[in-house]
Amino acid sequence: MSLDEVRKCDGIQNKDRLLVTHDGIVYDVTMFAENHPGGRTLLETAAGLDLQHFFDNYTVHGKSDKAANWLAPLAVGKLTEEETLMAKQHTTPEKHVEKRMAMLTKARRKILVVTASLPLWLAVRNFVSFVGWFVPSLGRSLARIVPVVVPGFSPGAEPLHCEEEEQYSVAVIGGGIAGCGAAWSCKESGFRVTLFEARPHVSGNARTFDWDFSPYREKDEEQTVRSCVSVTAWPSLYYKNYTALLEKLDIETVHQPLSWFLNSKVEGAVGTLWGADPRLYEGSLRKVLEKDFNRYKYTLNISNVICDFFTFRWAPWRREDEPSMYDNHQGLGFMNPFNIIPLYTLYRSLGGSDLWWDVVFTPHYTASFLVDELRPFPAVFGPLIESQIPLLPNKSNCWQGKSKRGENDCNINTCVTWKDAGKGIREVFDRLTSGIDLRENTRVLDVKVLPNGKKRVYDENDKYVDVDRVIFACPVNAIGNIHKSHSELADTILATPIYADDLHPSSGHMHAVMHSDSTVIESEHREDCLKRASNYVEVTRLSNGEINIENQYNFGVQTPGPGVYDLPLDKKPVMLISHSLGEGKSIDPSLVRGTGNHARAHPLYSGWNVMAMLSLRLVNGENGIYYCSNWTTPANCHDMSFLSGLVCAHAVGAKYPFEHKREAKKDFNRLRDLMGI
Ligand SMILES: Cc1cc2nc3c(=O)[nH]c(=O)nc-3n(C[C@H](O)[C@H](O)[C@H](O)COP(=O)(O)OP(=O)(O)OC[C@H]3O[C@@H](n4cnc5c(N)ncnc54)[C@H](O)[C@@H]3O)c2cc1C
Repeated sequence: MSLDEVRKCDGIQNKDRLLVTHDGIVYDVTMFAENHPGGRTLLETAAGLDLQHFFDNYTVHGKSDKAANWLAPLAVGKLTEEETLMAKQHTTPEKHVEKRMAMLTKARRKILVVTASLPLWLAVRNFVSFVGWFVPSLGRSLARIVPVVVPGFSPGAEPLHCEEEEQYSVAVIGGGIAGCGAAWSCKESGFRVTLFEARPHVSGNARTFDWDFSPYREKDEEQTVRSCVSVTAWPSLYYKNYTALLEKLDIETVHQPLSWFLNSKVEGAVGTLWGADPRLYEGSLRKVLEKDFNRYKYTLNISNVICDFFTFRWAPWRREDEPSMYDNHQGLGFMNPFNIIPLYTLYRSLGGSDLWWDVVFTPHYTASFLVDELRPFPAVFGPLIESQIPLLPNKSNCWQGKSKRGENDCNINTCVTWKDAGKGIREVFDRLTSGIDLRENTRVLDVKVLPNGKKRVYDENDKYVDVDRVIFACPVNAIGNIHKSHSELADTILATPIYADDLHPSSGHMHAVMHSDSTVIESEHREDCLKRASNYVEVTRLSNGEINIENQYNFGVQTPGPGVYDLPLDKKPVMLISHSLGEGKSIDPSLVRGTGNHARAHPLYSGWNVMAMLSLRLVNGENGIYYCSNWTTPANCHDMSFLSGLVCAHAVGAKYPFEHKREAKKDFNRLRDLMGI
């Protein structure tokens, strides 16, 4: 077969036949696209290209031999040796991104139409609900006719209340915090729950890692240190529901001092920055780029004033409200132009420079968002991130002074973490899933709506369960392939969300290396950083002119619990998690302790995702099928995912579990408003 023929079958020039290559063999994946576990669109992105890039960067393909086994029978031809090489060289990350963006652009045109028609559909829904309150049977009849879901009236969208134990059943697909939260809440309210998780263990993106220090420690010392890889810290002020959950599950937390250290070597902006330190010390980037820091201050002030104005923060009835991540739509919040105007645009319009944005803002937040493209980040979120991980620290979010870690120590004091890092987070998932029919290592392949309204959920082991309700709590792309009879409207919404790896499929921010090689930190700053920096961020200009943001997460500082926390500072083991190592640098292979991959981890904070999230209400609950998890919320964090699970469980008929927590309940109701169910 010729490479030319393969390239034509790329899902764009030829939509009827999809060909890919791998190691010189040509595979026809046209039929398989409907069953691709990552979804049809993601496979279409690879059509006409070589799979090596996708296998290297989406390591899920290599974790078992499933992908290879699925591919083998689809072989239809062979390339010459020369063309095998050409196919590999042609499939660059840029080529992949180009195709993905073309697909997203198509989806975006459609979502614009859907979002523009939202007010109309909301009016229709309200009308049907209004009629239904007076004449329920008429409400139900009307709900059958309209093309959008009317909560409480459309078939399958009525809440079920178990009068006796396990009267009704729910299947939850995806065992991250959203799925486990939904499953737990349903079980607490008497539902029979089956929870499916494709990976060997539940926890989703809340991963942990065991560091083996046996060669370096005395016999009677703790040999293994358990740390998190994600969900290392959270501001309890904003994570009200997650905090309530930890209290209920009896999981102990401790204060987590955080301090980002940034080392820029980019011409015109050479200097360092302790994120939590407001002082203008010699060589501080605050001094080098003072004008830009001021511009950013104005940007945040404006953003604050506008957001407060639209959300009625000034109104007497809102004065009692504690700060919240979920209240940007309160009052007239939906009309706030900053929902779609990027923070970057606002900052630039006030005279801020690109240099500051690329060398300070983006590196500072890349550690949190795992993506170095933050220009689409909506201005409405500016005040929120500033209050959690400030660039302009003040007394309410930072602490500075003398400590056992340094003469001039300074850190962010808004966050908490596990008392015992790796153990704490695992206990959360164990306790959430206790008593549930948990099927780990079991990928769901198909969900069918049966004529009697029940849903049949098929898994990869050729087993199925029949249930009354289904809650999807997995990444968005796969859902269309699992729930094949979804509507055209659902298809548009499911095709829209953009994830961090859509922009940077091969960048180091997706790939983590756990290691103990401290030489990656510049010698001048090494000792200080190992002692007190939760992150070491090095910003350099690459030979191709682009900026590289290297992140070393310092788990020696970030990990409480046995084995690390109480050790004298000079005895703490070096525990670094490296992303996007700078040009010319390397990690001593003998000090590498493991690797990890965060593909499909973070949906981007972008106006497009907000549109998909708001539009989702039109199909959420259709035929008793619900959607939660991070792509269904306004941003991406543990509290939001967990709460989205509670919102879906509530729509299914479960009780809200923290009734007595006033502020947590307000957040729950705010997210219900946003999700529209
Ligand atoms: C490196 C990193 C650091 C982070 N740090 C923090 C932090 O400090 N604080 C914080 O609040 N948040 C943090 N986050 C974000 C947080 O981890 C996520 O917001 C949250 O865990 C997402 O949970 P979720 O349930 O929505 O989705 P996921 O965790 O993605 O869960 C989805 C689950 O669905 C499963 N699945 C997919 N398809 C199927 C199928 N067909 N059948 C069955 N199961 C399926 C997947 O295997 C997965 O387990 C971090 C994330 C990363 C990657």
